[in-house]
Amino acid sequence: MARVKSSDTKVEMVVRRRVHGAGLRFRLHVAALPGKPDLVLAQMRTVVFVHGCFWHQHAGCSRATIPASNSAYWRAKLGRNAVRDEAVIDALLASGWQVEVLWECEAGGAALDELVTRLLDRRARQREAR
Ligand SMILES: [Zn+2]
Repeated sequence: MARVKSSDTKVEMVVRRRVHGAGLRFRLHVAALPGKPDLVLAQMRTVVFVHGCFWHQHAGCSRATIPASNSAYWRAKLGRNAVRDEAVIDALLASGWQVEVLWECEAGGAALDELVTRLLDRRARQREAR
């Protein structure tokens, strides 16, 4: 599974570069938070998860198919991942974090632009409020 892992990392690098390039600052993989979010913009109380479509079973995505061999095993394992993801998001929302999820298959396109726009808007509103 090394191949899958390294492609996840590549997507994450694209997202990091883009968010950083927009002038937003963040910490990485903060273990103190539920789910160890990929990017943590603490001042904006916002976390960003970059989800691999297979491991996190992106609904309706062609990369999220269950392998044909050992399918019962994979169904159970990936099902647990999805349950965990939901619990993580609930826990973060409950403690006042804004949660953004960017899917691996979307990271090269408009979804990343939209994410950066949302983050910049949020920061601007936050600055106005001060
Ligand atoms: Zn996907």
